[in-house]
Amino acid sequence: MATCPACGLLCDDIAVSAELQVSTKNGCAKSIAFFEQPLITTTPSLAGKPTDLKSAIKAAAGILHKSNQVLFAGLGTEVTGMRTLLGLAAKTGATLDHMHSDATIRNTLAMQNSGWQTTTLTEVKNRADVILAIGTDIATSYPRFFEKFVWNKDSLFNKPSPEVVYLGAGDNVESIYPNGKQASIIDAETADLPEIINALNALANDKKLHATNVAGVSVATLNNILEKIKGAQYAVVIWSASSLKFAHAELTVQSITRLIAKLNETSRVAGLPLTAGDGDTSVNHTSTWLSGFATRNRFSNGKPEYDNYQFSSKEQLKNCDTLLWVNTFSAYKPPQTDMPTIVIGHPNMQFDVAPDVFIPVGIPGLDHTGTMFRMDSSVVLPLKKVRHSDLPSLSEVIRQIEALLA
Ligand code: SF4
Repeated sequence: MATCPACGLLCDDIAVSAELQVSTKNGCAKSIAFFEQPLITTTPSLAGKPTDLKSAIKAAAGILHKSNQVLFAGLGTEVTGMRTLLGLAAKTGATLDHMHSDATIRNTLAMQNSGWQTTTLTEVKNRADVILAIGTDIATSYPRFFEKFVWNKDSLFNKPSPEVVYLGAGDNVESIYPNGKQASIIDAETADLPEIINALNALANDKKLHATNVAGVSVATLNNILEKIKGAQYAVVIWSASSLKFAHAELTVQSITRLIAKLNETSRVAGLPLTAGDGDTSVNHTSTWLSGFATRNRFSNGKPEYDNYQFSSKEQLKNCDTLLWVNTFSAYKPPQTDMPTIVIGHPNMQFDVAPDVFIPVGIPGLDHTGTMFRMDSSVVLPLKKVRHSDLPSLSEVIRQIEALLA
């Protein structure tokens, strides 16, 4: 059995066999696309011209040596890759920012400001009897969530299958479930969620609303949601910060966490923030344990600093003089920039303009081993090497670059 790193659930029941071609059992479509992707043996390149690994590593070290302020962005990797990146960042005084930090920061700001009460996937599986999904259908980003944690038959306690309520979850929601239960679907625009969540908070705090509906949702429907949660033994409120793409979405996250806190005064409710993937949970935990800060951190004279606005890729692309883009899980390419660019990543990455240095590396969990944190941070799982690839791992490449800078 192998662990699938294609989303934050890290399902560890994937049967893989790899003789000539990897084949999988138990996985979802996303997992099959990950494990059964073709083996590509791209060579390193300098400004688009093929070269050998040693020359590419030397060129990357040369660029980093000349740079005054380098940005390490993308950071699609697992724990081992991030550990080595942090070592190189400390040596080069780099700023680090994960590609999904915009979403992570929305949660971080809310948690920093007023704390939160969250739960784990295991608790959802064993205890949840009501699930409120806000602004997400869950299954698009976490395809086996319902199979493994909602419609599961093996919970620790004899609880009923959860009642699921979707609020503003888009058009992909499944309305009828395998056990014949019907989900409650409340249509709402994502942009209206702040208003609707604030109204839920007002009602939860016994305020009177002088309106019959809020952004198209009737007050009776909102009261009905609150009654379901209050009547639950263990309600779970789920949101995905990456879906909340509007200004100051951290205030909406905070409004959700305050609603959870209020309802917890009289019943049992917990939050479950969905992460965006590409190793974001693993990268931020590794960064925090080694530097004291999640990404959007910088090493200044060897000392780590944190600034969740100034150290964003968007701001740093205006201020840095070199970009190191890392993405090992997917071929998602770096932002276009005129500054010297080193790319270390997925062998199938395609560029509009070839970077100064491109070093293709193996894919964690497929071409080499690794370690990842599950999206709820409570479980760490090993990734297996599933097939043979001649490509080096990210950490092997980073160690060799760092050795040249010694
Ligand atoms: S749900 Fe996620 S972790 Fe599980 S098999 Fe699908 S992509 Fe992989």
